[in-house]
Amino acid sequence: TRKFYVGGNWKMNGDKSMIDGIVAFMNQSGANPNVDVVVAPPAAYLCYAREHLNAGIQVAAQNCYKTAKGAFTGEISPAMIKDVGATWVILGHSERRHVFGESDELIAEKTVHALESGLGVIFCIGEKLDERQGDKTKEVCFRQLQAIVDKNVSWDKIVVAYEPVWAIGTGVTASPEQAQETHQWVRDFLKDKVSGDVANKTRILYGGSVTAENCQELAKKPDIDGFLVGGASLKADFVKIINARS
Ligand code: 13P
Repeated sequence: TRKFYVGGNWKMNGDKSMIDGIVAFMNQSGANPNVDVVVAPPAAYLCYAREHLNAGIQVAAQNCYKTAKGAFTGEISPAMIKDVGATWVILGHSERRHVFGESDELIAEKTVHALESGLGVIFCIGEKLDERQGDKTKEVCFRQLQAIVDKNVSWDKIVVAYEPVWAIGTGVTASPEQAQETHQWVRDFLKDKVSGDVANKTRILYGGSVTAENCQELAKKPDIDGFLVGGASLKADFVKIINARS
């Protein structure tokens, strides 16, 4: 069985005093041994968050570049992320794809380098509203996944996050049935293009307006193995989402 995984993506939010508050409720919550708990602070606060959070809570960066160092003003590398004690990186988030114009190819190159550097990767996929309305959900998700299949990545440190763009920050959550349908497609894709073993073992998270109220119904679906949470990860309710299956 796949260990439940809950990530909190803070996006470009927070300052030291707000992080102190988040750290307080996270550290108080007590570790749930059945859940991988990961938080992704802004790069400027990776150190600060890592130093204050309990060791059982893992830390992720929200992005990274595809090389270890060099003349790439404004970027951070997987080596730096590891150096400050974080162990994961989110790649391919819809805001990186659609606000910052990152291509499937660039995201795949970053994924290869992050994995080679020893980071785990939360690999995000998902369709926009017009793509869903045009029945392109499967095609878009498969294209985004194919970019890393083409690189022959090793899957043991990849977690896939399905985040339909129309559900992110909108309050419009995918229904448990809509999410399950896509998660099943993703698992079938992995079975087809990678292996049955990888399909069975890879955690597929749902993201997009997850709340303490809707998480339990989503968590009941057989192919939903956790969540990637934005807004609700900044509030104490996040602990309820961590424990959605408990
Ligand atoms: P919200 O939970 O705020 O909709 O954000 C989801 C998300 O993008 C997590 O990466």
